[in-house]
Amino acid sequence: MALVQRRTKIIATLGPSTASAESVHALVAAGMDVARLNFSHGDHDVHRQKLSWVREAAASLGRTVAVMQDIQGPKLRVGKFPSGEITLDNDSTVELVAENGEGGPGLVPVGYPALLQDVKPGHRVILADGLVQLVVADVTDTCLRAEVVVGGVLADHKGVAFPDSELSVDNITPKDERDLEFGKRLGVDYVAASFVRSAADVRAVSALAGDAPVIAKIELAQALDNLDEIIEESSGVMVARGDLGVQLPLERLPLIQADILRRANAAGDISVTATEMLESMTHNTRPTRAEVTDVANAVLSGTDAVMLSGETAVGDYPAETVAVMARICVTVEEGTLVERGEESVGFVGEESNIASAVAHGAVQIAQNVGANTIVAFTESGSTARLISKYRPSQQIVAFTPNESTLRRMALFRGVTPHSFERKDSTDEEIAQAAQHLQADGVAEMGERVVMVGGVPPNYQASTNLVKVHRIGELSGGLGG
Ligand code: PGA
Ligand code: MN
Repeated sequence: MALVQRRTKIIATLGPSTASAESVHALVAAGMDVARLNFSHGDHDVHRQKLSWVREAAASLGRTVAVMQDIQGPKLRVGKFPSGEITLDNDSTVELVAENGEGGPGLVPVGYPALLQDVKPGHRVILADGLVQLVVADVTDTCLRAEVVVGGVLADHKGVAFPDSELSVDNITPKDERDLEFGKRLGVDYVAASFVRSAADVRAVSALAGDAPVIAKIELAQALDNLDEIIEESSGVMVARGDLGVQLPLERLPLIQADILRRANAAGDISVTATEMLESMTHNTRPTRAEVTDVANAVLSGTDAVMLSGETAVGDYPAETVAVMARICVTVEEGTLVERGEESVGFVGEESNIASAVAHGAVQIAQNVGANTIVAFTESGSTARLISKYRPSQQIVAFTPNESTLRRMALFRGVTPHSFERKDSTDEEIAQAAQHLQADGVAEMGERVVMVGGVPPNYQASTNLVKVHRIGELSGGLGG
């Protein structure tokens, strides 16, 4: 019987807890498919070092691991206070000024130049991850005057969000520009774009990201309003529950998560579910029952990947957390495959498009002939992604001669990337792939495998061929 492969991919954030070759190696060994470099922290030398540890560990373990550069974007923060913090009392009035300077009792500086133009009376101001909430009463020539609805302590440099306001700030900060330039030279495989509001914001990041596909982080109320155009413009979306939970009432998150995943999957976009998935494992060796159910829920919703943040960046048990996540994913996947035979995510490709039609056909054929494996030959990875988006119950082994395609496919649900020597004919490709499958223990002699490719081979967007192959047939073992 073929090996059980995990379908849902794991993104793990590297940080101080994973700042050595050994600890990165341990993450890869435990199942990390994508390493996330968080450019809100750390300098370029640190990120360069981490990327090289990832590449080394992947090579030595014979695994394919992608690197995702997560750029900071225009995260707004308050300034400083003389004693490090101020207390905002319920029903008191505070003034917000558009300055980077120091505040004081009842005075909050916000480092955002267009504050007085963009924020209007009635708009909410959310401080310190939702702990403190204000409502703007009026706007004067020099400040916003706001009432404290939920009081609390506000410390230096805490985050500030304006969920009701249309902010005119540029999505890309000068720091992001420098970071993207650096990431391009480094050769990152994906760019995650923070605080995008629209397709235009995604386009702006893409223009600076080189060849790296852009994953749009959905973490603003405005991004939700423009979700369809953002999905259209990006290669994928991330349900960024951390900041989204500041923008929206927390109890709305579960339905919004399900909605984002459903729409991304239906459009064939990559979908990522992020933040606090195994939060308690930051300091514990075991997760809570609720966290296990949260990861399972994302898997059942058809997410391509689940993400770890603080758990692996600053946690005490980074590799253990990845291992636990991997176990939850594979267990839930197995259960659903048995129960439903085939997952359904409602992906409807453009059926008139040849590649889509061929991919869909291959999934159907695999089901009918009882194949366990679908093979994709792919230059750009798009064939593998299309097949993956139909969420077949079969595993997908994707062969590519292209190094960056190989790594990008590490993020596709159900896809095992496999490197491949370029061949001159489809027959040679098939023979070569069949050999790899046997050697890796993925398929046995006589087993049926559905293969998807293009004639002639080695061209992008040439998917036009499905073959039901019996392992051994070309080598004469079975005589067709
Ligand atoms: P962050 O993004 O970790 O960069 O803030 C994810 C989120 O907001 O959930
Ligand atoms: Mn965020």
